[in-house]
Amino acid sequence: MTEPVTNWAGNITFAARELHRPRSLDALRALVAGGAKVRVLGSGHSFNEIAEPGPEGVLLTLDALPAEVEVDTTARTVRVGGGVRYAELARRVHGHGLALANMASLPHISVAGSVATGTHGSGVANGSLASAVREVEIVTADGSTVVVAREDPRFDGAVTSLGALGVVTALTLDLEPGFEVEQHLFTELPLSGLDFETVAATAYSVSLFTDWREPGFRQVWLKRRTDQPLAAFPWAAPATEALHPVPGMPAVNCTEQFGVPGPWHERLPHFRAEFTPSSGTELQSEYLMPRRFAADMLYAIDGIRETVAPVLQTCEVRTIAADAQWLSPSHGRDTVAAHFTWIEDTAAVLPVVRRLEEALEAFDARPHWGKVFTMPAAVVRGRYPRLDDFRTLARELDAEGKFANAFLRDVLDD
Ligand SMILES: Cc1cc2nc3c(=O)[nH]c(=O)nc-3n(C[C@H](O)[C@H](O)[C@H](O)COP(=O)(O)OP(=O)(O)OC[C@H]3O[C@@H](n4cnc5c(N)ncnc54)[C@H](O)[C@@H]3O)c2cc1C
Repeated sequence: MTEPVTNWAGNITFAARELHRPRSLDALRALVAGGAKVRVLGSGHSFNEIAEPGPEGVLLTLDALPAEVEVDTTARTVRVGGGVRYAELARRVHGHGLALANMASLPHISVAGSVATGTHGSGVANGSLASAVREVEIVTADGSTVVVAREDPRFDGAVTSLGALGVVTALTLDLEPGFEVEQHLFTELPLSGLDFETVAATAYSVSLFTDWREPGFRQVWLKRRTDQPLAAFPWAAPATEALHPVPGMPAVNCTEQFGVPGPWHERLPHFRAEFTPSSGTELQSEYLMPRRFAADMLYAIDGIRETVAPVLQTCEVRTIAADAQWLSPSHGRDTVAAHFTWIEDTAAVLPVVRRLEEALEAFDARPHWGKVFTMPAAVVRGRYPRLDDFRTLARELDAEGKFANAFLRDVLDD
């Protein structure tokens, strides 16, 4: 490639020999049907080499394809093109008085890339973003299109698929009537005596933030739907100023707080679409575990906080409802997720990631597919009971391994 292409964080420079931006579906089909290995780069917000096709491979971005967003108000669904980001999708869906059930912390990410890695927001009853998908269209290795709908026995392998099955050119998502959300923030929630299940269920979406410099949480973000009751939160004090989850960063980057009601898409993400999300200079890791381990897991991290804190910008704890996607990190279990925004220093961060993974060993943790992890591939494989079904599906749709890359071979192969 003439210009080096990197991910959003800048910690990965892709080795692919070519970057292509097809302008039509026919051009995309022709590129895919060629001889080279292919991977799609979505919005590039992953922190590892999941999108890397290798030095002989071709990287495709779909941002020059028509940005299709077709809302069906009767069926309450939306068909969205493979390159479209949540910010644009949400704006269009809101314009029809409809809503997505949930969003991640930022709207900057592509829909196809997000659901491919099991990306999630928070909420005890909210599944990962892939839970909203009802149909997926995939251009497979020979350039032909396969449509996999929810009724199809292959569906549970086809959405959170790590880009292993082909190029996702469109997804159809469930919508619901539009709703409003208020954000209520609290500060200094102690770890001691924390009833995690109760706290996590006090609002539609709950996030706890800490820098692990103390045994407790610096911030609690409650996102309450205005059509649901406002629960009391007696465990911490209401915030007196607008907050950013990363200490020292400007709160203007964040969505409106202080209980001001607003549309779902301007409150469910923490970060505003028109600003840099998070700190912008960082690495990230995240581990998803059965929710019943939440309290023990938090104490385990607290036990190594002197190791974790020096390389940490912020840690966020969220919940996700179980889903059925074979490769979803929240597959088959109501989940608690511990996320870490690290400093931008791979050499300093990796030993801490290893130590953290040891501390989480007892909790059956599955790493987020799009973030930094060091867990041995054999351990990761053992945590996905439907992995063999996924391998069978990948062989069916991509017999020659055109979409396989080193990351996938490492994680998926025996
Ligand atoms: C600041 C920041 C905040 C984040 N917050 C959250 C959060 O709140 N919750 C969470 O769970 N994660 C979060 N993430 C992680 C992020 O959501 C995931 O990495 C997600 O995959 C990003 O989507 P993307 O389009 O950028 O994917 P990319 O990194 O571009 O790609 C991810 C994978 O999807 C594949 N892919 C992308 N598009 C297609 C397509 N059209 N067809 C086939 N395969 C495709 C790629 O090949 C790759 O394998 C965050 C990341 C950042 C940088």
